[in-house]
Amino acid sequence: MKIDTVVVGSGFSGSVIANLLALRENRRVLVVEKSNHVGGNCYDYRDKNSIIIHKYGPHLFHTDYKDVVDFLEQFGEFEPYQHRVLGFIDGKYVPLPFNLNSIYELFSPALATKFEEKLLKNFEYGAKIPVLELLESDDEDLRFLAEFVYEKVFLNYTVKQWGVKPDEIDKSVTARVPIVVSRDDRYFHDRYQFVPKEGYTQIIQNMLNHPNIKLMLQTNYHDVCELKDDNFYLFGKKFDGKVIYTGGLDELFKYEFGELPYRSLNLVFQEKDVQYYQKASVVNYPNSYDFTRITEFKHIHPAHCNKSIILKEYPQEHKTDENIPYYPILVDENLKKYEKYREKVKSLKNLVVFGRLAEYRYFDMDDVIKRAFEIYESELM
Ligand code: UDP
Repeated sequence: MKIDTVVVGSGFSGSVIANLLALRENRRVLVVEKSNHVGGNCYDYRDKNSIIIHKYGPHLFHTDYKDVVDFLEQFGEFEPYQHRVLGFIDGKYVPLPFNLNSIYELFSPALATKFEEKLLKNFEYGAKIPVLELLESDDEDLRFLAEFVYEKVFLNYTVKQWGVKPDEIDKSVTARVPIVVSRDDRYFHDRYQFVPKEGYTQIIQNMLNHPNIKLMLQTNYHDVCELKDDNFYLFGKKFDGKVIYTGGLDELFKYEFGELPYRSLNLVFQEKDVQYYQKASVVNYPNSYDFTRITEFKHIHPAHCNKSIILKEYPQEHKTDENIPYYPILVDENLKKYEKYREKVKSLKNLVVFGRLAEYRYFDMDDVIKRAFEIYESELM
């Protein structure tokens, strides 16, 4: 098969674009993946108990994009699933994002009623207010509430997760989990929420399962491609097709401007001799323990067995070649470094870069898929 497009990486970014090009444009696509499996960090598998485990931490699909849903449904069966998270605060398990129910759990009825009234006077029912924004409120009671949530939910969790305080990271990060003026205990409020019945890996395998797609696992980009004098070489021969790269730009350009910093995680899985270990899929522990949260997979993908698998996430620094880059650290210095790499991309007409790593962004799964559609339409059709 004569290759006309190379896709580097087989997470959602690489797999969606490879599928669109093979199926709709009849392109001959080579997908190179450095790991021994497809799926990137969405990779999952059934363990010996037949429980579906997310090897790189919990991945919960939620979206308002109908086109993303329609696209995904071609590749497997999905089950409705509404994600719920509890936070262990002051000895109680309360709903997160922090909402009116959490307020009533943690404050006296009189105080809770006062907070509810104040919130409803200042915001509409259903409003989502980032904690850093509520801290700036003109209302003394709302500021008191915001300070409580900041101290009990965000401060210590963020210090564990990021190594710095909430106001020292990009505001968009803590805004992912706003204070919600409602009694709706779901973690996400998007229109479409579901999990793939057989896991994400199967969906991605089905995307890549096309006669025009050749997949090479355990293959690094630098093993097959080379960039010389602004030209790409594939297996040593000049290559004039597109190279679509979804990995880190620092790695692509051999760390010319230094490493792009990330936070990483040490993921510790444990088997428990119980039907269920905890009351929700995820329980956050902002103020206790060194881990941030515990995920119990049986809540996400139901399974019939007497054991349960839990996952504790211990945040840590990222070290190249030692652990996995999970979260980009979005501070000015790092974004400036990223821009330098981006400038290099501009000068290479056959190179297209996108995705969580290549764009140094904190993307949700649906945003990654949507981004693949945009790239397909704008650059490749
Ligand atoms: N966060 C927090 N306490 C919580 C939940 C979230 O401080 O109980 C902050 C923390 O900084 C975290 C960010 O909000 O990194 C985003 O949380 P999210 O649950 O979206 O993280 P992800 O699931 O992407 O790791």
